[in-house]
Amino acid sequence: MIAIDLDDAAERCGICGNVGRRFLLRGYYRKCPLCRGASRIESDAPERLDEYWRGEAFWSEEEIEKRKQREPVFREAFRILRRHKPEPGSVLDIGCGIGTFLAICREEGWRVTGVDPAPIACQVAKREYGLDLVNDTFSARLFGERRFDAVFAAQVLHHLPDPAAFLADVTRVVAEDGVILLRTPNLVPQEALLRLQRLLGRKEQFFCGPTLHVFHPETLRLLFAREGFREVTFVNSRPFVEPPHGGALVPNLRRVLYGGLKLATYAGTEGLFRASGGRVLLGPSIFVVARRRAEPTSAPLNEESATWSHVWEVARNTLSLRFLQSLAYSFAYYIHEQVAWRAQIHAEKGIRIHATASIRYAHNVYIGQNSHINHNCCVWAGQGSKVVLGNDVLMGPGVCLFAANHGTVKGRPMMWQERTEADILIGDDVWLGANSVVTAGTRIANGVIVAAGAVVTKDVTEEDVIVGGIPARIIGRRRPA
Ligand SMILES: [Zn+2]
Repeated sequence: MIAIDLDDAAERCGICGNVGRRFLLRGYYRKCPLCRGASRIESDAPERLDEYWRGEAFWSEEEIEKRKQREPVFREAFRILRRHKPEPGSVLDIGCGIGTFLAICREEGWRVTGVDPAPIACQVAKREYGLDLVNDTFSARLFGERRFDAVFAAQVLHHLPDPAAFLADVTRVVAEDGVILLRTPNLVPQEALLRLQRLLGRKEQFFCGPTLHVFHPETLRLLFAREGFREVTFVNSRPFVEPPHGGALVPNLRRVLYGGLKLATYAGTEGLFRASGGRVLLGPSIFVVARRRAEPTSAPLNEESATWSHVWEVARNTLSLRFLQSLAYSFAYYIHEQVAWRAQIHAEKGIRIHATASIRYAHNVYIGQNSHINHNCCVWAGQGSKVVLGNDVLMGPGVCLFAANHGTVKGRPMMWQERTEADILIGDDVWLGANSVVTAGTRIANGVIVAAGAVVTKDVTEEDVIVGGIPARIIGRRRPA
């Protein structure tokens, strides 16, 4: 895996539009770190692709015959659609080919519309199923004000130069509570296969036909989220197994074995999919169902499934590189926040510092006898500014002392503003109430009490007073017993 910065104009992700993040170059495709989709680096010009889909070569009699045999794939698609839309409505099939899916929908009582750029496909649809298709490349403009309860596009999205623009256009023809159903290759197993091919020194066979992109399930989730589809679900597509043909025994045997292997793989991927509660999606081809409006989320929480989801989360994350990364990170922070400063701080006897307190520039922190730094306090000195606490200083939880400040010049990012530093000097027997803040350059006299939540921005010079509010002012005095 090599990450390379390319500087030519093509450096924009064709899927999500990312320009800021480096692409991962892997052989003859590249992967976008933002949307996790893979795109072919060299591809045919879009107009040539359009020719391909319309062309006679693609629509040979043999191809048409193959498509007719693939009816089970479309039956499966219809079952998935029915799960989301039990009542028949209107359906649009984009790139519908010879119309097999539409013929099934019509049988089930749906009102059907299909669009395909290939004239031959439209002729065959008429001949085989009596369907009148729109012979064109899909565009929402073709349908004016019409809205469909379901839009189906099988193996279309990954062939398009700009899949995001296509989804935006499709969204325009989907009814308010309508669904989009897609069938597309899944990058997760495809990429693993590619790595295996590389390992075995085989030629890369990743993109079949004029495929431009292959999507990770997360890519699809992102693209649909941008169009306002909050509910996106995935289903492994059952593989298509060719039935045995009449003829020679050996090719038939091979076909049967290959079919068996495909079905066994499917059973495995489907098992993992179910065991993981739909998280592990390894089918080479997947169905994606996107629904614009999520169902009301008032359904009661299923305790058992929530427990399993947590068990699965632990198992999945324990066996990961990010677990080791996070462990190393936490360890380094622990050393930084809890250990390193102890060698530098200037502390008198009898002090207590809570384990959750944060100390910065400890060589500039001075703590008098019997002083107490509580839970979640920040005592942040600066590189050149000190925090000096007297004797018997008591801090409530969450107190913050900042002996450095950032400039606020307009037009300069905050990260790059000038830092100003000034000492904080706290007298003896001072009580800083919970969550109070003392800013840089502030002195607080002996015996002062700072009320909880106060922000002290100016010196408190009078002894034994009580200050409170933002910015803090005198609100009372300590009385003798
Ligand atoms: Zn991207």
